[in-house]
Amino acid sequence: MEQLKLNNGQTIPQLGLGVFKVQDAADLKRSVAAALKEGYRHFDTAAIYHNEAWLGKALAESDVKREDLYITSKVWNSNRTYDETIAAFHESLKKLQTDYLDLYLIHWPSEGYNEKWRAMEDLYNDGLIKSIGISNFEKPHLEKLLTTAKVKPAVNQIETHPYFQQKELNKYLRSLDIAHEAWGPLGQGKSNVLDDPTLVKIAEAHNKSVAQVILRWHLQREIIVIPKSVHAERIAQNINVFDFTLTDEEMSLIAAIDKNQRGSGDPNDEEFLKNSMSRD
Ligand code: NAD
Repeated sequence: MEQLKLNNGQTIPQLGLGVFKVQDAADLKRSVAAALKEGYRHFDTAAIYHNEAWLGKALAESDVKREDLYITSKVWNSNRTYDETIAAFHESLKKLQTDYLDLYLIHWPSEGYNEKWRAMEDLYNDGLIKSIGISNFEKPHLEKLLTTAKVKPAVNQIETHPYFQQKELNKYLRSLDIAHEAWGPLGQGKSNVLDDPTLVKIAEAHNKSVAQVILRWHLQREIIVIPKSVHAERIAQNINVFDFTLTDEEMSLIAAIDKNQRGSGDPNDEEFLKNSMSRD
């Protein structure tokens, strides 16, 4: 598994398994078992996915040692303050049956994130989190965060796929040495990116699936990917992307199919951010 070096010297496996919308303990257990068997060591969850406890159990029951795993979780928007962030983190740790996280992210740039970041920094400085980062932050959010941050985020996890390539934000993150992690790397299975004719042609040329070509394209952009699947054969397919390389020409052809088309979750949707902060 390829590793990327983060700005704090830690490394992250460049490909992991996302578990958003896995809402069944048995599905999660099967997916994790299949993933571990195929060589996945990196798992991405969040408090709001309501499956941390299932993931924790599945990992605890595996024979892979904790230090060989890479676990990410995220603090939800309803945890608004310093104290609430600390409490939410400890709740996640408990559910995940671990005493540290490899990566902990602020899930969305909802109001009060500078204060939440201060809590993340304290957890990081106490050695409870190996790396801290953000998710769904655009340039203005990041600029505001950096006015008070003492620790620079290691990662920004943002929607990214061939129809929403995030070229500008990628450049900005690169200039700050913040790693770009893609959520929805396959267009969440709901955009028609998997049928794109350019991608289909490239996939045929390499005898790979379109999903594999997309994941390979992310990897060659030095982006971290966490594709989600609960199907053993897709889980296997999605990690089988380290044995071929896209040419510069193929990378350019894919760069040209960008539609700047967001699939879901706009970080500038103030109403969504406000509603998601509800403590109910
Ligand atoms: P994704 O792009 O990984 O798409 C997953 C879907 O693609 C699957 O449900 C399936 O329908 C399809 N798929 C998977 N493998 C395939 C294959 N080999 N061939 C054909 N189809 C395939 O979307 P996602 O799950 O939304 O994103 C990945 C992960 O990112 C999530 O599970 C979660 O961990 C994270 N995420 C984070 C945020 C955030 O706000 N930070 C938001 C969404 C997702």
